[in-house]
Amino acid sequence: MKLYADRISVLGTESAFKIGDDIRQCEEMGLSVIRLNLGEPDFASADNINEEAIKEIKNGNTHYTDPQGVLSFRQSIAKHVHETRGVPVDSAQVVVTSGAKPPISYTIMSYVNPGDEVIYPSPGFPIYESWVTFLGAKPVPLHLEESKGFRFNANDLEKLISPSTKLLIINSPSNPTGGVLTEQDLRDIAQVIKDTADESVRIFSDEIYEDIIFDGRKHKSIMSVPGMAERTVMVSGHSKSYAMTGWRLGYAVLPTVDEAKIFRQFNINIISCTPPFIQEAGKAALEKPENKAIVASMLREFEARREVVVEGLNQIDGIHCVMPEGAFYVFPNIGGICERLGIIEAYENLPPDIRANTSPSSLFQMFLLYHHGVATMDRKSFGTIGSEGQHYLRLSTATSMDLLKEGIRRIGLASKDRKGFQEYITRGEHFYLGAS
Ligand code: PLP
Repeated sequence: MKLYADRISVLGTESAFKIGDDIRQCEEMGLSVIRLNLGEPDFASADNINEEAIKEIKNGNTHYTDPQGVLSFRQSIAKHVHETRGVPVDSAQVVVTSGAKPPISYTIMSYVNPGDEVIYPSPGFPIYESWVTFLGAKPVPLHLEESKGFRFNANDLEKLISPSTKLLIINSPSNPTGGVLTEQDLRDIAQVIKDTADESVRIFSDEIYEDIIFDGRKHKSIMSVPGMAERTVMVSGHSKSYAMTGWRLGYAVLPTVDEAKIFRQFNINIISCTPPFIQEAGKAALEKPENKAIVASMLREFEARREVVVEGLNQIDGIHCVMPEGAFYVFPNIGGICERLGIIEAYENLPPDIRANTSPSSLFQMFLLYHHGVATMDRKSFGTIGSEGQHYLRLSTATSMDLLKEGIRRIGLASKDRKGFQEYITRGEHFYLGAS
């Protein structure tokens, strides 16, 4: 009899949480590591938000609460969504969750049977592919292309829709590419859904980066397209907008009250509820006027960093980096470096069991980390299916300008360090995260 259930072998992960052990190892070896791997704002949550939570704890608001979420917070979310998306929302359609991550599994568990097809962006947030596979659905990656600014259009989507399609996942602004779908893209996508998919097909719209959007653009949601709120599970939260990643606060807006009840039931089964004092702090984040200015100044900083990082990367021979339109990541193409350093050839010469766990961009990621002290994420960390031959890294701009500049300088050095790369390959260690 085996210890673990069979399904455990297909459980995916989010490598952003895995890289910490490798960074620690590098630091123990005496390297100072520049962390360009971070998926969270490097700002603190605002004092007014912190104080609200402390006040609530002191007042004893520390017990179980409504599994769907505190009513006044849900009302505040409904108002926010109405104001920003132009769609009236009833607080009974809102479910508060511990971060924006739980609604991903709730959605697949609620609507998708084993064997049904789920279309999701790749590169994309890795938890989509993880849950699709874990729950026995058929993963259908929608490949985002650099040449299209990592957006996709109605044609790209139409090719993937089949009678077995049950769910479409979209994420704009996108992690890891920073791509943003335009209003017209969303209208075209909605039209394809209306024309080709059954009414029971749902769209999961991950809008967690709704406030981190550049060049004066306004966030657009597919739920604002007429007829789409009825089909869309819209998810957002406080992790990125208010730098509250560790608070674990997110929410889903469901098309109907009945569907929200299913999500409520998942909360009952899994977490019971999100802590009430955290929800009160989340309400303060949405409602206190001073937070608008705090979010705006964080946005300005991300925007300034993005300019410097993209310009710096594009000056490195072998890198091509498109200008992201949102989120706090850049997603450079490192194909030229892979060629120049002989990474593709080195990868092809590795034994099959190691090759299965790595890729050319993973080898450069690990070389960069262990030999030049820069932590980044590889292409494979954002969906593995069909990622072969794509040589990209994700760099986060959630670190200070000085560190970003130093990180780029080191990437420039690594990009020419053929001798160092050969030594790394010969040594035969650290070919992927967590490898010895
Ligand atoms: N969706 C996307 C696209 C993300 O990038 C993240 C976090 O990195 C999440 C969801 C999860 O957010 P949270 O930390 O609120 O669970």
